[in-house]
Amino acid sequence: MNNDKRKRIGSVLPLLLVPVLLITVITFFMNSNNGEKELTYFDIVSLYREDKIASYELNLSSGVLTYTLRGEKTERKYNVPSVTLFYQDVHDYVMQYNEAHPDSPVLYNYKAGSSNSWLLSMLPILISIVLLGVLMFVMTRRMNQSIMSESNRTISFGKARIRKNEGGKKVTFADVAGADEEKEELSEIVEFLKDPSKYNALGARIPKGVLLVGPPGTGKTLLAKAVAGEANAPFLSISGSDFLEMYVGVGASRVRDLFAQAKKSAPSIIFIDEIDAVGRHRGAGMGGGHDEREQTLNQMLVEMDGFVENEGVIVIAATNRPDILDPALLRPGRFDRQITVGYPDIKGREEILKVHARNKSLAPDVNLLDIARSTVGFTGADLENLLNEAALLSARRGLKAITKSEIEEATVKVVVGTEKRSHKISEKDKRITAYHEAGHAIATHFLEGQDPVHQVSIVPRGMAGGFTMSLPLEDKTHIAKSHMEDDLVTLLGGRVAEKLVFDDITTGASNDIERASDMARKMVTKYGMSDNLGPITFGSGHDEVFLGKDYGTVRNYSEEIAKDIDIEVKDIITKAYQRCENLLIEHRDKLDELAEYLIAHEKIDGEDFAKLMDGTLEYTNEIVSERNPGTEEADHA
Ligand code: ADP
Ligand code: MG
Ligand code: ZN
Repeated sequence: MNNDKRKRIGSVLPLLLVPVLLITVITFFMNSNNGEKELTYFDIVSLYREDKIASYELNLSSGVLTYTLRGEKTERKYNVPSVTLFYQDVHDYVMQYNEAHPDSPVLYNYKAGSSNSWLLSMLPILISIVLLGVLMFVMTRRMNQSIMSESNRTISFGKARIRKNEGGKKVTFADVAGADEEKEELSEIVEFLKDPSKYNALGARIPKGVLLVGPPGTGKTLLAKAVAGEANAPFLSISGSDFLEMYVGVGASRVRDLFAQAKKSAPSIIFIDEIDAVGRHRGAGMGGGHDEREQTLNQMLVEMDGFVENEGVIVIAATNRPDILDPALLRPGRFDRQITVGYPDIKGREEILKVHARNKSLAPDVNLLDIARSTVGFTGADLENLLNEAALLSARRGLKAITKSEIEEATVKVVVGTEKRSHKISEKDKRITAYHEAGHAIATHFLEGQDPVHQVSIVPRGMAGGFTMSLPLEDKTHIAKSHMEDDLVTLLGGRVAEKLVFDDITTGASNDIERASDMARKMVTKYGMSDNLGPITFGSGHDEVFLGKDYGTVRNYSEEIAKDIDIEVKDIITKAYQRCENLLIEHRDKLDELAEYLIAHEKIDGEDFAKLMDGTLEYTNEIVSERNPGTEEADHA
């Protein structure tokens, strides 16, 4: 990094010297040609009046006055503002003086203009023009050189601030640990970039744009670089925030430039990091200053529409805020493919640790799997940071290898240092989350007619501590009352499990409760599913009120009915809660089994889940490394 910076400054310094030199040269010529600048016209006339002038010559066309002072031999020069004025002010006085002092007269001469002196006076301008030409030439050459140079971080003047990654250390998929699903999705793009003609011959359509979505530090940039590295394609990258520091109109032209360069070096990859900085919903900006951003975004859309598919340019963008992106960006033919890059699970974390432990020496008491186990919620960047901090600590202590105690200290440092809510979940929180999600999953599984469980995970995702996902087998247009009641049971599964197992409840279920209440209320007021109140819609009947949920809903029922509605809603929820509780008590063994599995593995997919429920899954909660990380070091050495 330091080296890099020094190199950059080194290449800019001579360029700064050129204008300085130019100014010096020009002033030098001005001075020698036009006389002493600091004297005013008044000073000159005074010199005459005080009889200090010995001789002088005035060039009538250029106005250059050459004079010598009495008792001096050096010729001085002065550029008179007006030859006529000077003549009037000085000539008569000199004549009088010469008459009065015939023994020491002032010698004078008035010279008609010569072409020679005219050329001389033009000299500084001519020289400046030549020098400027040279400067421009040098600058463009340097710019081209820097673009073509092998360094991966160069700044080019005027043009897009593009970082090209050719040569240098190549990043490949091997450097991206854990993210197997992401890599698989991107491998198609790699294949295409390696040989576009193969795809063209088959008429296969390759996406123009891929959007990597995920929290900071999960390896989005790394993945994009790895795609370029795998395909051996040029990697042109720019960050969305780079556009923000630019003058009006520059952003759009940089985008144009970026795409032009990418096309020239196709097959190639354009990587736009932090695309949300420019790609935010248009018109959503506050006050002025977002015009520039909009222009840049528009130019980006124009460019993406402008090149045909399979031209060999693939645009990869990264963001952690897909929700604020302008929908236009996500339309077909633009970033129509999204790849979610999530927090790594326990296996993933172990893999990442292995990658970053490659060039570090670890003491035998360090077990990477143990570190992985205790770092739920850590991203790849956090883990890298953790090992680095541990290495620094060990160095400070003069150790030859990183030991367990440095790792533990570094973990605390990373957690405290970054202050991220999702970081480092305690063992107790992990248990609670595991039981919460297991509660949802078990309820889903043992209710007839619920969609099969697709995945259960306790790896944090966004704001949620974990999630249970079920996928519908068929599209449903009508939802029966009984089905909605079952949905309520599964929604409450998390809360019920917490209550059963820990005899306590947490805030983790608040979203579930909210959704359950909402659904129950709709059953009563919107779908008319309540036996007591009958098939009547209460409220305006408009489900989606424009602003806010209840704003503008006309209440067309009495206070008494309102109370009845509340009672009905509460009744529905209570019944669902009861059913859920019975279900989970009945299947407590499965609940425990699943929760323990989740605590150990953090994730289970649909297939394994089904087997676990059948009792046919062969597994152990004792996760062991495939290879002993202690000997890993020796293998690589
Ligand atoms: P993002 O772009 O998602 O914010 P980066 O790609 O910049 O994250 O990741 C930052 C650093 O974290 C990388 O340079 C790398 O050292 C480390 N890292 C992140 N994810 C991984 C991973 N899956 N495997 C190995 N290292 C990773
Ligand atoms: Mg990044
Ligand atoms: Zn829940």
